Amino acid sequence: MADSLPAPDPQDVARQMMADLQRTNPQLAMIAQMMQARAIVAEPVSADLSDEVSDLAERLAEAEARIEAMRRQARRLYEAHRGASERLAELAAALGACGLCWGEDDFCPSCRGRGRPGMVRPDLELRARLLGPVGRVPSCSDPETTH
Ligand SMILES: [Zn+2]
Repeated sequence: MADSLPAPDPQDVARQMMADLQRTNPQLAMIAQMMQARAIVAEPVSADLSDEVSDLAERLAEAEARIEAMRRQARRLYEAHRGASERLAELAAALGACGLCWGEDDFCPSCRGRGRPGMVRPDLELRARLLGPVGRVPSCSDPETTH
């Protein structure tokens, strides 16, 4: 009967088919509606999607390059910090001071603030290597300490 009607509007036909589908197979109708909705949403976006994608890819590459540069700088800073910390710890040992705080932190887990130079026996070998022979060190000795 529907075949005999002259030139039906395609949108009316689609609406009628969807109504039939909803009645006979609601799950399939839901899927069909979702596919329809996706097609409607996707079309306008896909027009300049390639420009958008290449722009985003370019920005991502730039961000990754900046991150890599920061990573290299962080590595250099870390190495410099580690080297300075090691030298400072050696110097503290050479002077008999706390290597963590040099006696300046009352809450230091190592010395509880008592680790000023001379608080423990200095590592004389290290001291000689870092500061030269004891007699030749001009201003290293603590003024409060008398030898
Ligand atoms: Zn300390």
